[in-house]
Amino acid sequence: MNKKCDVLIVGSGLAGLYAALLLDPSLKVIVLTKDLMKESNSYLAQGGIAAVFDEEHDKPEDHVNDTLRAGAGICNLQALHVLVDEAAQNICNLQRMGVSFDQENGKLSLTREGGHGRARILHIDGDATGKGLMDVLIRNAQSRPNIKIIEYSLCVDILMSNNRCIGVLALEKDKLNYYYAKSVILAAGGLGMIYGITTNASTLTGDAITMAERAGAEIKDMEFVQFHPTVFYSKENKRFLISEAVRGEGAVLKNIHGERFMHNYDERQELAPRDVVSRAIISEMDKTQAEHVFLDLTHLNRAYIFKRFPNITGKCREYGIDISTAMIPVSPAQHYLMGGIKTDLWARTSIPGLYACGETACTGVHGANRLASNSLLEALVFANRASKMITASIENIKDLSQSREQRTEMLPPGNCDVSAEREKIQVSMRKYAGIIRSVEGLNNCCKMLNEIENSLQKKKCLNKEFIECFNILTTAKSITHQALKRKKSIGAHYLGEEKGMLRA
Ligand SMILES: Cc1cc2nc3c(=O)[nH]c(=O)nc-3n(C[C@H](O)[C@H](O)[C@H](O)COP(=O)(O)OP(=O)(O)OC[C@H]3O[C@@H](n4cnc5c(N)ncnc54)[C@H](O)[C@@H]3O)c2cc1C
Repeated sequence: MNKKCDVLIVGSGLAGLYAALLLDPSLKVIVLTKDLMKESNSYLAQGGIAAVFDEEHDKPEDHVNDTLRAGAGICNLQALHVLVDEAAQNICNLQRMGVSFDQENGKLSLTREGGHGRARILHIDGDATGKGLMDVLIRNAQSRPNIKIIEYSLCVDILMSNNRCIGVLALEKDKLNYYYAKSVILAAGGLGMIYGITTNASTLTGDAITMAERAGAEIKDMEFVQFHPTVFYSKENKRFLISEAVRGEGAVLKNIHGERFMHNYDERQELAPRDVVSRAIISEMDKTQAEHVFLDLTHLNRAYIFKRFPNITGKCREYGIDISTAMIPVSPAQHYLMGGIKTDLWARTSIPGLYACGETACTGVHGANRLASNSLLEALVFANRASKMITASIENIKDLSQSREQRTEMLPPGNCDVSAEREKIQVSMRKYAGIIRSVEGLNNCCKMLNEIENSLQKKKCLNKEFIECFNILTTAKSITHQALKRKKSIGAHYLGEEKGMLRA
């Protein structure tokens, strides 16, 4: 089946839906999403969005400097200034759409998180920022006659003609459908499933990055993968994030003997950047031969903590932990990708007609490591810019649906079980391309990924499991290859002794 629209968006997270809502309403927009539309990292976000609103104590330049420091000084400065300068206007846009940020005494309630020198994080319903944002955006998008959201539509490839993107190919109910569009926005998020142990939604398998790379787009900074230091630990691998904001409010880390340890690693202690805290925890876990450390907030005001973190309080309670009286077992897990599809200041990739925004894109704002609460902001600012650029230029683009597309490889229909390959990729990546890496380990990883690729090639078939597994493999290879090219430790790419394996 062939379908036509003006703008095709892949992904129903913050970047995808916000871009859809800001496009000119006269444009016909289709949003494809591979599962239910709520299945996204955006929906899971807890802590909040960074933006300078306290003009008395905070300045945009401070936000720039904190981001640069977390990013180990290699952030794209132009993009970073755009991010910070356009933060407030995008927050106001959200408020106009009906998003209601938490307030205190009639003013926006601002909190502090690791790496931020000032309180500048806006949040919703305490620690349920993602849900608060996305419920409003989904409602808005569903009520707009020019936007059609198609669930359970897995985008598998980008359609190209004469080196221009002309649409996408999507797998829907075991059938391939062709979508032609004048502009395509990839907003398909990150790649947590490459590591298996992750805070990410289950749909995040690096699909857009693989598709864009295959189409010839430039992919950048893949070695910079962020691991969140404080993810709830359970033997059954039922992970969920314990937001940075909890440490921002005064929670402290302790080893299994109940001793604080962050002062041995960094003077900023619990509020040091995520890579520093993650390595400190891994090191402490090794020293104490433990599978986790603890996050302790039992000394904080009980009523305030329950009000400020209702979501975390409730989830911990499900696992039998009252956070006002017991410490929370935590260990690091994969959380975010700083790299991705290289884009310019207007979210354009190196392929004409193809845009990318949100976590799948690499604007360079995060440098070697992302500052907390900057990713929702990045998704907003650059999705807005993508929609402005598309709205301004779409009139000049002719109907491309009759163009002869370069054929994409057709997989034979059928069913194939690739669960063993998927598991092997995750284990290799955890072992060799995690928090602490070595050249030898990364070379081993490449070897293992090549072997897995040989086994996958023999199983080729057109089903969701195979496509995701192939995307996981391709993205894992990009991470390992780019990590091998980066000879020195910087930010989230840390070369050291080979003992940084994420615990399953
Ligand atoms: C638990 C958690 C908490 C977080 N908390 C914060 C926070 O407090 N502040 C902050 O700034 N950041 C936070 N982040 C990071 C932030 O949420 C994400 O970086 C951001 O939401 C990414 O938005 P996105 O729109 O790019 O991608 P997502 O929101 O992940 O959306 C991607 C969408 O694409 C779909 N998709 C993927 N592949 C395909 C395909 N092949 N075909 C069709 N659809 C596809 C997915 O199903 C999903 O709907 C958090 C992340 C997690 C996991």
